[in-house]
Amino acid sequence: MPELNQGAGDVETFAFQAEIAQLMSLIINTFYSNKEIFLRELISNSSDALDKIRYESLTDPSKLDNGKELYIKLIPNKSEGTLTIIDTGIGMTKADLVNNLGTIAKSGTKAFMEALNAGADISMIGQFGVGFYSAYLVADKVTVTSKHNDDEQYLWESSAGGSFTVRSDDGEPLGRGTKIVLHMKEALDEFLEERKIKDIVKKHSQFIGYPIKLLVEKEREKELSDEEEEEAKEDDKDTKPKIEDVGEDEESTKEKKKKKTIKEKYTEDEELNKTKPIWTRNADDITQEEYGEFYKSLTNDWEDHLAVKHFSVEGQLEFRALLFVPRRLPFDLFENKKRKNNIKLYVRRVFIMDNCEEIIPEYLNFIKGVVDSEDLPLNISREMLQQNKIVKVIRKNLVKKCLELFEELSEDKEGYKKFYELFSKNLKLGIHDDSQNRAKLAEFLRFHTSASGDEACSLKEYVSRMKENQKHIYFITGENKEQVANSSFVERVKKRGFEVIYMTEPIDEYVVQQMKEYDGKQLVSVTKESLELPEDEEEKKKMEEDKTKFEGLCKVMKNILDNKVEKVVVSNRLVESPCCIVTSQYGWTANMERIMKAQALRDTSTLGYMAAKKHLEVNPDHSIIETLRQKADVDKNDKAVKDLVILLFETALLSSGFTLDEPGVHASRIYRMIKLGLGIDEDEPMAAEETSAEVPPLEGDADDASRMEEVD
Ligand code: ADP
Repeated sequence: MPELNQGAGDVETFAFQAEIAQLMSLIINTFYSNKEIFLRELISNSSDALDKIRYESLTDPSKLDNGKELYIKLIPNKSEGTLTIIDTGIGMTKADLVNNLGTIAKSGTKAFMEALNAGADISMIGQFGVGFYSAYLVADKVTVTSKHNDDEQYLWESSAGGSFTVRSDDGEPLGRGTKIVLHMKEALDEFLEERKIKDIVKKHSQFIGYPIKLLVEKEREKELSDEEEEEAKEDDKDTKPKIEDVGEDEESTKEKKKKKTIKEKYTEDEELNKTKPIWTRNADDITQEEYGEFYKSLTNDWEDHLAVKHFSVEGQLEFRALLFVPRRLPFDLFENKKRKNNIKLYVRRVFIMDNCEEIIPEYLNFIKGVVDSEDLPLNISREMLQQNKIVKVIRKNLVKKCLELFEELSEDKEGYKKFYELFSKNLKLGIHDDSQNRAKLAEFLRFHTSASGDEACSLKEYVSRMKENQKHIYFITGENKEQVANSSFVERVKKRGFEVIYMTEPIDEYVVQQMKEYDGKQLVSVTKESLELPEDEEEKKKMEEDKTKFEGLCKVMKNILDNKVEKVVVSNRLVESPCCIVTSQYGWTANMERIMKAQALRDTSTLGYMAAKKHLEVNPDHSIIETLRQKADVDKNDKAVKDLVILLFETALLSSGFTLDEPGVHASRIYRMIKLGLGIDEDEPMAAEETSAEVPPLEGDADDASRMEEVD
C-alpha cells in the first residue's frame, strides 16, 4: 500500500494507484459537457451498497441494527456549494475505503481509458466499474464518510492530484452507510438546483429500487404564537397593525382580525422515484423509451437493448419477469469469473440478489433482466436456491421465453444478423448443453453453405433445397469458409448437385457431435469415411470395377504407409484431387484434431490415441493414381513408388486440413523433387536444411526426370 506519511496525527495519506490517478486527471481535464452522469453513478453505487446490506440481512437480521430504513438521500447546499449523497447501505471499512477508492485498480480502469482513446464517451464509465471517479467531473474536492458494521466511522478525502487521505471520523455518526460530499467546482451551481436534480434523477435513476429522497426547501405561512407576536410588536411597533387578542371560540376568531402570520422556511424530504417497479406494471402501458431507460439503469449500458420480453406466469406458481437482449458483448467478457448483474432476483418486490446462477442456464448468460417471484421465501440464500423446485420451474419458463424472444428476433433478418453475430456461440453452447431444447435451438442456427452465397442460411432453408434423392444433410467443418469451400471433399458432393454446409467455428465440432440430425435428416460429414452419396446403377458398377482394378495398389500403399493410415480405399467422391484423407466415423475430423492440438499443448500424450483415425481414399480416375497403379503392378517394391506414395499422403494430409507432424521432412522431400525436376545432381552440396533433415534419399532416381514429367 503506497502510504506517504503514515502516522502524521490521525491522518494517513495514500497515493492513488498510477492508472487510477491517470483516469482521474483524464476525467478532470477532458472537456465533457454531459457532466450530469456523475449523479447516476453515485446513486448506482449507493443502490449496490443497499443491495448488499439487504442481502446480508436476509440471513442475519441483526445486520440492520444500525439502521433499518434503506434509502438514498440527496442534500444540496447552495451556501456551502456542496451536494451530499447519503445512503444507508453496507458502508465501507477503513480498508475498503483505501482499497476500493484508490489503491487497487480494476481491469476496467485501463479498459475504460483505452475505450476513451478509441472514441468512447465518458458516460460509459459505469460499464467499466470505475463510476465513483465521475464525481470529479463536477467536484474539485470529494469527501466520503463511511460506517460499516465491522468497523468505526472513517473519512476519505481527496482533491485529486494523485493522493487521498483517510482518517477516523468523530463527526456526526452515520449509524451505517456512506455519505459523499461533493465540493462543486465553480460555475457548476446548477447541480444544486432542485429542478435540475429532479430532472437528472428522473432521467437516469427513476428505476432505482430504493427511495431517493431530495431535501427540498419550502416556504409556508406560519401563524405567530402569542409570545412571538409580543416580540414582533416590540420589535416593530410602527409598521405592525394592531393585533387583537384571540378568543377561545373558533367561530369568533373569524370575525376578529386575523392572527399575524409570517413566511417561514423549512425543509422536507421529497421522494423522487415513486414509480412502481416497471415489471409490475401492465406491459401495454409501458413505452419502449421506458423499457430502454430501465434497461440502462439495470445494466449501466449506455444504449438501449436489442430486444425485450415482459411477461408474467400464473397458476401453481407466480412470477413476473422482464428479459433483455443487449446490443453488445460486455467489455469484461475476458474476465473469467462469472459476471454479475445478469438476472436480478426479487421476491414480492424485495430485491434478493444479483447474478442468480440457478435461475438461467449458462448459455443464456448474456440475457439481462429481473425476475420477481411471489412464492419464494424472502430469506432464501444462494445455497437454498440450488435445490429449490420453484427456481427450477422459473428457470424452465425463462428459457422458454428466451426462445420465443429469439424467434421474434429472427423474423427481422437484419436485426437477427446483429443478434447472431453477438450470440451465436451462446446458441451453439445451448445445443451442446440443453438437450431438451436442442431441436428448437437448431432452428436459430445460420451457416454459409456451398449454395447460400454471401448470406448465411438456416437449416430449414437447406432442407427446403434438398434434392429428391438426397437423404442426408451434408456438412464440412474447417478453419474458414475459403478453406472448406475449396476442399476436395466438397468437390464431389457439389458436383452431384448437393449442398454442403460450411461449419467454421471451433464450437461447431461440438454442435454436430450433439446434434446428430435435423428435421429427421442425419447430419453427415463429407470428410468422414461413412459418406455415401446416392449413386445410380452405372456408377455402382463402375465403382465395383474400380475396386477390383485398384485392389493391388491399395495394398501396396497401405504397406508403405503402414500405421499412418487405417486403410487405403478407392473412392468415388473425388474429382480433381488424386486422393484425400477421411476420418473414421467416430474419430476426430481434421478440424477437431487441429482444435485439440491447440488445446492440448501442455500434454500431447493424449493426442496419440485420440487423434483422428485416417483413411486414405484414392481417385481411380486420376492420372497420378492410374500411373502409380501401373508402376506398382510392374514392381510392388519399386522404391520410387514408395517415395511418391509418402509424398502423396503428406500432401493429402495438408489439403484435407491436417497439419504435418514433421513439416521439415515433407519440405525436404519436395525440395528433392524440385531438384530432380531441375536435373540437379544428387551429390552436389546441399542446402543446410537438406543435409540436416533425416530424409531417406529418393531411391532409384536414375531416370528421375522422365518420371517427374509423368507424375506432374
Ligand atoms: P463499481 O461500483 O462499478 O464497482 P466504483 O468505482 O463506482 O466501481 O466503486 C468502487 C467500489 O467502491 C465499489 O465496488 C464499492 O465496493 C465501493 N463503493 C463505492 N460507493 C459506495 C457506497 N456508496 N457504499 C459502499 N461502497 C461503495
